Amino acid sequence: MSDGKTTTGKVERSEAEWRKELTPMQYAVLREKATERPFFGEYEHEQRKGIYVCAGCGQTLFESDAKFDSGCGWPSFTAPAVASHVDEERDTSLGMVRTEVLCSKCDGHLGHVFEDGPAPTGLRYCINSAALKLQPK
Ligand SMILES: [Zn+2]
Repeated sequence: MSDGKTTTGKVERSEAEWRKELTPMQYAVLREKATERPFFGEYEHEQRKGIYVCAGCGQTLFESDAKFDSGCGWPSFTAPAVASHVDEERDTSLGMVRTEVLCSKCDGHLGHVFEDGPAPTGLRYCINSAALKLQPK
């Protein structure tokens, strides 16, 4: 498997390969579940229309139409572009119970989802800019 893909459609790379492909910040977020500093992310105030894809594997994750200004310091979305493109997992780190959001294709850590978002979903996907790449329309 030289192209990094498996028959399940998952993207699997060694840690060394990820380190080569990603910037240090992208690596820290996607592979080590780091959280970038609030209010300093590239896309927090992004207003352009487009598709946000995974910085690790390029899978479509969020659309700009679902982005809203939550004031929390990270890009926030009401829903993923395609539900099956994000996985959600219970995260009990840091003494809190949260729901972690991961890319379903490369298992990269994206951020967390909270149940205090606006209508219609009531959800707030709080996502690290470093995990995303905007493809402007
Ligand atoms: Zn991915």
